[in-house]
Amino acid sequence: MTSSIPTTDISPAQEAAKLRDTVIGWRRYLHQNPELSFHEERTAQFVHDKLTELGGLEVSRPTKTSVVARLIGLHPGPVIAMRADMDALPITELSEVEYASRNPGVMHACGHDGHTSMLLGAATVLAGLRDRLHGEVRFIFQHAEEHFPGGAQEMVDAGVMDGVDIVIGAHLWLPMPVGKVGVRAGALMASPDVFRLVIRGSGGHAALPHETVDSIAVGAQVVTNLQHIVARNVDPLDNAVVSVTRFIAGTANNVIPGSAELTGTIRTFGAPWRDRIPELMERIVRGVTQAHGATYELTFQRSYRPVVNDERVSDFMRHVVANALGADALVEATPCMGGEDFSAFQQRAPGSFFFIGARNEERGIVHPHHHERFDIDERALESGVAIFITAALEYLSGAPQQ
Ligand SMILES: [Zn+2]
Ligand SMILES: [Zn+2]
Repeated sequence: MTSSIPTTDISPAQEAAKLRDTVIGWRRYLHQNPELSFHEERTAQFVHDKLTELGGLEVSRPTKTSVVARLIGLHPGPVIAMRADMDALPITELSEVEYASRNPGVMHACGHDGHTSMLLGAATVLAGLRDRLHGEVRFIFQHAEEHFPGGAQEMVDAGVMDGVDIVIGAHLWLPMPVGKVGVRAGALMASPDVFRLVIRGSGGHAALPHETVDSIAVGAQVVTNLQHIVARNVDPLDNAVVSVTRFIAGTANNVIPGSAELTGTIRTFGAPWRDRIPELMERIVRGVTQAHGATYELTFQRSYRPVVNDERVSDFMRHVVANALGADALVEATPCMGGEDFSAFQQRAPGSFFFIGARNEERGIVHPHHHERFDIDERALESGVAIFITAALEYLSGAPQQ
């Protein structure tokens, strides 16, 4: 799949540098005008208009707020898909940057404004290089990454992955310093499954606990015992998280509540623990509630699949990053238990999702994703543009695929 044959005199890094201010301008415009998942109307229109202006692309709207552009090279060859997500979060921005959100209560606090701008930048350069491309670049601008069931699956169902040979996507990444790009084969991001548990006891006067089945006391034991799953059932060399994130019970200080509601998340990298942990949870909940004379309802909802990167596409991306930015830029990505619906695209073609470092300690750009002061070092955008251009030129160089 990798090829060291120089097939072009174009320097992706130089092309990305020429577009620096334009891409930063787009990112700031999108940052000021964030839209929530499934409501990215103006964002999608903006992307659609920019892509249409470029000329030479087949631009379509597979769903109400998503956009796809096909750049079909002059020569036949394989299809590489590149994905950017476009949605923002229900967060009130507290950063004091001049390009802060103008849409109250909504914020690009994950960096998707940057993803969209980088891919638009790459499309701008590649649209002018059609005569060099052996195959097709498919630009996927996805809606609703942040909100289950996510836009990726909708787009896959609408056929955007038909005929695609490989798929790549990036996340601007605050845990990593700007200038570094993390690639990793295998498990990278977890499945963010959720559960809901209702414990039913029997309420009563707080001074007469012996006449009640205290749903809070039972629930507290359930929470404690659930910790044993990761501590004592999951192989220590595997990764999993079971977190109770919400515990609602009671109305007054002199009333023992008859029921308690607990919700939380289960994070795994797929089999076997994705199936096994719910079974273990049910066993614990059944045992603890029964021991104390309570009953329960326990339901699970599966969310995005884990992001598991293909070995060969990840090798290709290592080669691409080193060629685009120099070998020093390339690092091994550290897996994270966050979820990403990029995994939906990976069900249809081998893919690799990678991290573009966007942290800058000196400038105070350190706040984590989904924080109300989240920002990125915008130099990361240029790196992303160069990587996407390089990936397209190398994959569609006409050299035989290994
Ligand atoms: Zn996010
Ligand atoms: Zn994100």
